[in-house]
Amino acid sequence: MSMRELVVLGTASQAPTRLRNHNGYVLRWDDEVILFDPGEGSQRQLLHTGVTATDLTRICVTHFHGDHCLGLPGIVQRLSLDRVPRPVAVHFPAGGAEYFARLRHASSFHETVELAVEPIEADGQRIGLRGVTLEARRLRHPVETYGYRLIEPDGRRMLPEKLAAYGIAGPAVAELLRVGHLDRDGRRVTRDEVSVTRPGQRFAFVMDTGLCDGVYALAEHADLLVIESTFLESEAALAAEVGHLTAAQAARVATESRVRTLVLTHFSQRYADPRRFADEAREHFTGDLVIAEDLATVPVPPRRVTSAR
Ligand SMILES: [Zn+2]
Repeated sequence: MSMRELVVLGTASQAPTRLRNHNGYVLRWDDEVILFDPGEGSQRQLLHTGVTATDLTRICVTHFHGDHCLGLPGIVQRLSLDRVPRPVAVHFPAGGAEYFARLRHASSFHETVELAVEPIEADGQRIGLRGVTLEARRLRHPVETYGYRLIEPDGRRMLPEKLAAYGIAGPAVAELLRVGHLDRDGRRVTRDEVSVTRPGQRFAFVMDTGLCDGVYALAEHADLLVIESTFLESEAALAAEVGHLTAAQAARVATESRVRTLVLTHFSQRYADPRRFADEAREHFTGDLVIAEDLATVPVPPRRVTSAR
């Protein structure tokens, strides 16, 4: 069975704490192993998880503030050190290309890995992966910032007992799917009679932004939403001023967007007790709520039974 889960490397904004490393997240999604926003220490945090540098297929950077990218030099050099044998894709805001170039060559090393660099040039840019689409949406922050989401299209799940009842097997199944129907013993069997919709899954990653259309576009119907909640409502004015979200805002977005599992992260070091984020979010969101901790693993929830869209 394919594996879809989030592995949290770090959860601190701005400054790390004794308990929280700078940002860093890995999404395992079937063949894709995507590293999001590697902050300082991400290489070492990986060691504490089951993910190796060699597993990584893609790196997505939301923006070039240090807590989201200062781990890049170490990760890039580690990919070469481990002689990763295939290209690793890298996405980041095109306006930050100069920062990326510096981070990529921050110090001398023997470069063997091939980075397939594909900057995000525009809001809504889509990148086709196997069986799923990666989409970037512009966010609202003092520097050019993009959030990301994965969108899997709805599919069909065949019902073996129905296929057997109509005596449909082997290549006929593929033909039925392709054509939409099949004539059997003088009777037309339709695709809908022997299969049901298999709802596609969605993952969204929303980091460092004030509330804006991009946040809602990314969060829409996400099975798993990872979203920054740097502040609590007591600092709502400050959050708006510096382009960040509060736990309450993030939770309301999740409810309005019909999110299933909500992961709050990127916490300001000013709050000692993470339960305060849970208490505030709970007032606005009744689904599965995770207050991210370093090295936690969060599974993408099982597929919806019917398509939400
Ligand atoms: Zn940040």
